[in-house]
Amino acid sequence: MRKPIIAGNWKMNLTLKDAVAFAEEVKGTVPASSKVDAAVCAPSVFLAHLTEATAGTDLKIGAQNMYDQESGAFTGEISPVMLKELGVTYVVLGHSERREYFGETDAFINSKTKKAFEHGIVPIVCVGETLEEREGGKFESVIREQTTNSLKGLTVDQVKNLVVAYEPVWAIGTGKSATEQDAQDSCKFVRDVIAAEFGTEAAEAVRIQYGGSVKPDNIKEYMAQPDIDGALVGGASLETGSFLKLLEAI
Ligand code: PGA
Repeated sequence: MRKPIIAGNWKMNLTLKDAVAFAEEVKGTVPASSKVDAAVCAPSVFLAHLTEATAGTDLKIGAQNMYDQESGAFTGEISPVMLKELGVTYVVLGHSERREYFGETDAFINSKTKKAFEHGIVPIVCVGETLEEREGGKFESVIREQTTNSLKGLTVDQVKNLVVAYEPVWAIGTGKSATEQDAQDSCKFVRDVIAAEFGTEAAEAVRIQYGGSVKPDNIKEYMAQPDIDGALVGGASLETGSFLKLLEAI
């Protein structure tokens, strides 16, 4: 049985004061980590405060990005060593907003994914097609390529510990969520691609989240699907009440 994982993706939202108040309010209330993994992925400037505020609790903290080098002349970047030192558990890699606005390629995402593992941080690797790609019949080739190239060269053990977030670009922040059947079919497709590359044991163990306008009132339907193991949630993770409701629905 794969343990569900619900991760908030705060994107570039909230203030430090809001973020710490959120963590203080939620940290004692999230369900036990034996039942579900609960995390918020926060802007990097909040991370030290959040890991300190949540230390020893079942609310884990994730970063939204990192660089693929330990240190050096890379102005403005943040390394896996720095994230690890802060006690960060997860890092979101290859979110569609980073692919679209910052030109991130599968090769770069792949390099970052390997680095995250080297430093004991669990990568949440995002894949997803645009509406144009879906309507143009390119869903399978796009998702196969993103998945294969982003995970290239990982070991079977790494894949087993990985989280993949399938997020159709057209469903992110639009309120237009995928139907639960579409989300299930797409997550199953990702799992099949992983099985072809890494074997069935890895494919059965890897956790695949659905993301894109997940809310307290639709999360149950997604979680009822056999190949959906959790959710990566943007808008509905910004308020404590809504975030807790997502977790209670598991
Ligand atoms: P959304 O964002 O829940 O606001 O659609 C999801 C995401 O981008 O991870």
